[in-house]
Amino acid sequence: MITDSPKQTQKIAELLVKTLIKTQNHPTIFCLQGNLGAGKTTFIQGIAKALKIKEKITSPTFVLMKKFHINDKLPFSKLFHFDCYRFDKPKEILVLGFKEIIKNPKNLVFIEWPEKIKKFIPKNTIWINFKVVGKNKREIVISLKLKV
Ligand code: ADP
Ligand code: MG
Repeated sequence: MITDSPKQTQKIAELLVKTLIKTQNHPTIFCLQGNLGAGKTTFIQGIAKALKIKEKITSPTFVLMKKFHINDKLPFSKLFHFDCYRFDKPKEILVLGFKEIIKNPKNLVFIEWPEKIKKFIPKNTIWINFKVVGKNKREIVISLKLKV
């Protein structure tokens, strides 16, 4: 799909959350690919808004990972936001507890720059691709990748 504003990108994120809430055994790992400024963080802000997370989602470039508590009434307990842009080696993500985090189906895990940690990404992952196609236009492609 093509969006014409950051707001519209966040609306798509909201629709994704609504779908997840209705779907049992949904994938919980989301890999967000695209150049700097393509809209990955903006999209996660939309996810957070839809999950009623109060804290502001920013680019965790220096922190590498941020954890947010999700309202108890929802079927998820925490949102994890990873930004792997600064990783030199894939295994740096393990120090952040990645393996344990992705084991818990109540965690929603969003990863920016997943190509940096490709070998640690499990099967059944949703890939979301962002492309700048105009000043305020972004192409967003959402696909389910199943490793068999
Ligand atoms: P990334 O995390 O991919 O580096 P950001 O989400 O931080 O990108 O930044 C995207 C920038 O593009 C923001 O400044 C945002 O306001 C702007 N923007 C303009 N149009 C759109 C759109 N349709 N969707 C998302 N962001 C947009
Ligand atoms: Mg970002």
